[in-house]
Amino acid sequence: MKIVFLLVLFFSSLVCKSQSSLPWNGKKCAVVLTYDDAINQHLDNAIPVLDSLGLKATFYLTAFSNSMQTRLSDWKKLATKGHELGNHTLYHPCIGGKGREWVRPEYDMNNYTVRRMVDETRMTNLFLQALDGKTKRTFAFTCGDMKIGDSSFINAMKHDFVAARAVRNQMHKINEIDLLNVDCYMVNGETAAQMIEWAKKAMETNSLLVILFHGVGGGNSLNVSLPAHREFLEYLKKNEKDIWIAPMLDVAEYIEKYQSTKTKI
Ligand SMILES: [Zn+2]
Repeated sequence: MKIVFLLVLFFSSLVCKSQSSLPWNGKKCAVVLTYDDAINQHLDNAIPVLDSLGLKATFYLTAFSNSMQTRLSDWKKLATKGHELGNHTLYHPCIGGKGREWVRPEYDMNNYTVRRMVDETRMTNLFLQALDGKTKRTFAFTCGDMKIGDSSFINAMKHDFVAARAVRNQMHKINEIDLLNVDCYMVNGETAAQMIEWAKKAMETNSLLVILFHGVGGGNSLNVSLPAHREFLEYLKKNEKDIWIAPMLDVAEYIEKYQSTKTKI
């Protein structure tokens, strides 16, 4: 009898050990759901699904977008529900040129200086602070553009942000992540099954999976269908014991702490 008791103790200690060695807040991987560009369908289609499942996401807002101008109080409400309001610049400038004819000359990053980019982005931080009262923020590069001319502008703002999200579709382990250049998988018509494969890969490789949605059931040419969006989120919820689903700021602060402790060792 005593031996059985000792064996139970031994195996339960093994289970505890393997759980605590899981890198992502005690889970196999982390998934961050991000929604870009302040689109009405985020308020009307994405939020109801997220809230019904109790999942928290990050909304990268362009402060002077149409939806922000007309539905400011709806966007403000997201923060009270625990979602993150992230910075996606004031006017959504991008590098114009061939294939980017839609970029207006006033908001073409070819015509920007680093100073103007920094000032507009800091203004957006102030705007977001007025909405949610927070001083810690994450950023998402517009069109994935990271430079004004030859100069990276995020370096000038590294103390303004905990993290910045780029648009490369890769996933990395916790010690390999560059917080000022976080990768993400951009959704453009994928099925739920395809997105679920990404989540499975993240679990298998103990990685961070960041998803980038634009249109959700419409609102943008880069779109996810409503059924695919719902089925994917339901899959994440069902696997919550293995997947840490949280806004970018929470995950980025966790990574920052993890990486600084490992460096000290
Ligand atoms: Zn954008």
